[in-house]
Formats: sequence, structure tokens, C-alpha cells
Amino acid sequence: MKIATLHPAPLNIGILGAGPAGLMTALALEAYLPAGRARITLLDRNKSETDYPGVEYGIQARACRALERIGQLEQACARGNPSRELAFYNKRLGKRFNSVAFDPAYTRNVVRQEFLADLAGLLQTSTVRRRHLVTRIAAAEDHGVTVEGTVDDVPFTSDFDLLVACDGVNSTARKQLFPNDAVIHDRGFNCIYMLVEGADQTAPDGFLETANSGRNEIVIGHFSTMTMFPLGHGRLALGIGFDHAIKDEIWKKHGLASDADWKDLPAATKKSIAVTLATDSDIHGGMLVSALDLVPDWDSYKIYLWAMRDTDPLAQPWSAAANVVLIGDAAHAIMPTIGMGASLAIEDAEALAHLIATAASGAATPAEFRAVVKDAVFMPFTAARHPVWVNLINRARRAAIGNFINVGRRRRFSIGVFRRAILTP
Ligand SMILES: Cc1cc2nc3c(=O)[nH]c(=O)nc-3n(C[C@H](O)[C@H](O)[C@H](O)COP(=O)(O)OP(=O)(O)OC[C@H]3O[C@@H](n4cnc5c(N)ncnc54)[C@H](O)[C@@H]3O)c2cc1C
Repeated sequence: MKIATLHPAPLNIGILGAGPAGLMTALALEAYLPAGRARITLLDRNKSETDYPGVEYGIQARACRALERIGQLEQACARGNPSRELAFYNKRLGKRFNSVAFDPAYTRNVVRQEFLADLAGLLQTSTVRRRHLVTRIAAAEDHGVTVEGTVDDVPFTSDFDLLVACDGVNSTARKQLFPNDAVIHDRGFNCIYMLVEGADQTAPDGFLETANSGRNEIVIGHFSTMTMFPLGHGRLALGIGFDHAIKDEIWKKHGLASDADWKDLPAATKKSIAVTLATDSDIHGGMLVSALDLVPDWDSYKIYLWAMRDTDPLAQPWSAAANVVLIGDAAHAIMPTIGMGASLAIEDAEALAHLIATAASGAATPAEFRAVVKDAVFMPFTAARHPVWVNLINRARRAAIGNFINVGRRRRFSIGVFRRAILTP
């Protein structure tokens, strides 16, 4: 529901980053602010939604509810596949564990690029400026914000009453505003993510049923962990995790230097590595290994290796000198071990937009708005969200120990690093 205002002076709101956090912030502001109350501008360095690796997002119940609150759940997830359950297997122990049941109305698997394109397509009045690389964020008069950067190597400057920084794990805002809290932790393992797309004639037996089902799986193998997420329309997302020591062994077997970068490997080597890992953790009688033949291009953005990293959530994700607040991965990058990255970002965005709209309704001018942002937006946002971040990041770290690291050859990895990483609420 829109929050009424007596004061039509437009606010200038900037959003850095057009990932899930940025796009959802814009959509929720459009939903909560009266028409014409704000000029909303998103700045993103990428050329398009596909100009970024990524395969699948789990849009979990917390994100579905946030989308529902702004009336966009079905539109945003129109191409998503409902999830019904998450099943756990330990192949090494030959054990199957209880499944976790999901409400399919509120749990969807989406293809990252499709979901981001669909969110962007729902925007009515916001402006998305792509190819805009932001390099500097500075305080302007009265808590305002000046953003500097380049578009196609040409400098640009923009001024805002408020900047919402949604610039992901390598956040420029975080590095500049909180240089002492900008450490990105290497969590000791990697995941190869693959989008495998099948068609009636070519897919191995059982592939299409699996890809069109609502059953997700986590399978712990002898040296790898496979996550499988059905995306519907004959598409399956596979993510195979393996720690650095296993990576070294596999790279060596393929005649590669240990620091050889995935993106520089020949396509046939990428496929051979994926087959080695999938063979270890496939519980479908080799069907998923055979399904790797469906991948037409191993150099595509749909196949990539992602090093597992996270950050400690910022206890104060805002600066009052310049009205800047960080949300999503910029404030709290989380490993994908509980599939919460995008969902947490979406939930942050809706909560923040609601507070911004409430603050805007009581401010006669942009100057008045700028003056109340710290107390009316940043502080209540942090009080509500920081405990959620700590809770979920701890869950993701515990899941990394249980499902991805402690997988057989324990000696390889010091899980003490993770034990120390559990945060105090
Ligand atoms: C390489 C990688 C792959 C991932 N793959 C998956 C996956 O397959 N499944 C999954 O569930 N999660 C995945 N994640 C995690 C997931 O992407 C994040 O948790 C989620 O997208 C967080 O959303 P966000 O909007 O906070 O940040 P992001 O989605 O990272 O969006 C940040 C946006 O900011 C833009 N940006 C960054 N810096 C600047 C700058 N200086 N100037 C202008 N624009 C800038 C980027 O181009 C990007 O569009 C992946 C993360 C990474 C880093």
C-alpha cells in the first residue's frame, strides 16, 4: 500500500547495483512511494543482466513474502519453478536423511538472468543506467551524496539525497566507507555451477522428470558435494562443491598448475573436471553425469567456478556523513550453502524501501528528508535486519561445515576456522 504524503517535492534516490537488492529496492520504492515523490536511478557497471555469472537463485519464502507485500510475487517469479522439498543423501555412508518440505507457493527456483530481467521489466518509473562504473562515493552538503565514475570510460557525476549501495560482495561502497570491515573471507572451497538444459530427443532417461520436478537435492559424495535444483522447462542447475585440496589434486591430474584459472581452461578440460566431480556425487545411476553431454558451450557464462567467500555482516551498514546505506551482499555476503543470498537481499530491500517511504511522508523538502534519514531509516533498518543477517550467516557457515567441508577426508581442512567464524548474536 502506498504511504500518503502531503509534500510532493521529489527526492533524488540513487541505487548502486542492479542485482536482486538494487532492483527490488527500486520496485519496492515504486510500490510504497506516491507517484512523483522520488526520482529513482540505478547505476550498474554491467551491460545487461546476463553480463555476470550466475545460474540459479532459490527465491525462498522470506523473499516470496517480500515480493508479495509489494504485489509482485507472481510477475517476478513467472518463469520460476515451484520447490516442494530438499532431500539429503550421504553417498559415502549410503544414507538418506529426512527431507525438508517447502510450500511450493512460496519457494521458487529461478534462472538468475531471467529473474533479473523480469524484475527490471516490472520497473515503471525508475531509470536503470547500465555501463556505469562507480568508483567514488563522497559526502555532499547536508548529508547528500555525490557519486563519481565512468560510463564507457567517460567520467560522470551524480548527486543524491540518499544512496542505497547494493554493489555485491566486492562492494566499492564497503571498501570506501568501512575499509577496516571490508575483509572477504576465503572459506576454503569452490563450486562449479552449471545450467544443464535438456530437450525431449537428447536428454538421458529420467532427466526431464528430474528437471521438471520440485525436488531439490544435496548429495555428499566422497570428495565433493552436489546440489541439484530443478528449474522447470527441462532445465536443471547443478552446483558441485569441493575444497581447495581436492581442487589441487584434480587440477594436477589434468596437468594444470594449481593457480590455473577456470575461465582460461580449455572447454574439454572443464567438462572432464565436471565429470570427475559429478561421478563422485551422482546418485541417479550416472544420469546426471550423462546429462553433462547436454552442455553445448563450456565457456558460456552458464558454467562457471565460484570460490566460496563471505563477509561478516556490518554492525552499522550506513554512513550519516553522506546518506549511504549498504544492503544485500554489500552488507553481508553469504555463502550459497543455504541458498539465501538473493532472498536475503530481496527482504532487505523491501524493509528498507518501506522505511524510506515512511520517512519521506513526513518530510516537506529533500533537505528535511536528508536530515531525518539516519534516525528514521538507517537506525531502525539496522536494528531489524542485523540479527537476521547474523542468524543466517551462522546457518550458512554451519551448513558449510556439515555439508561441504566435513565430507570424508577431514584432515584436509581446518574446520576450526569455521568454528571461530560463528558470530555472537
Ligand atoms: C560470481 C558469483 C556467482 C554467484 N552465483 C550464484 C548462484 O548461482 N546462485 C545463487 O543463489 N547465488 C549466487 N551468488 C550469490 C548471489 O549472487 C548473491 O547473494 C545475490 O545476488 C546478492 O544480491 P545483491 O543484489 O546484493 O548483489 P549482486 O547480485 O552481486 O549485485 C551487485 C550488482 O552491483 C553491480 N556493481 C558492483 N560494483 C559496482 C560498481 N562499482 N559500479 C557499478 N555497479 C557495480 C554489479 O554489476 C551487480 O549487478 C553468486 C555470487 C557471485 C559473486
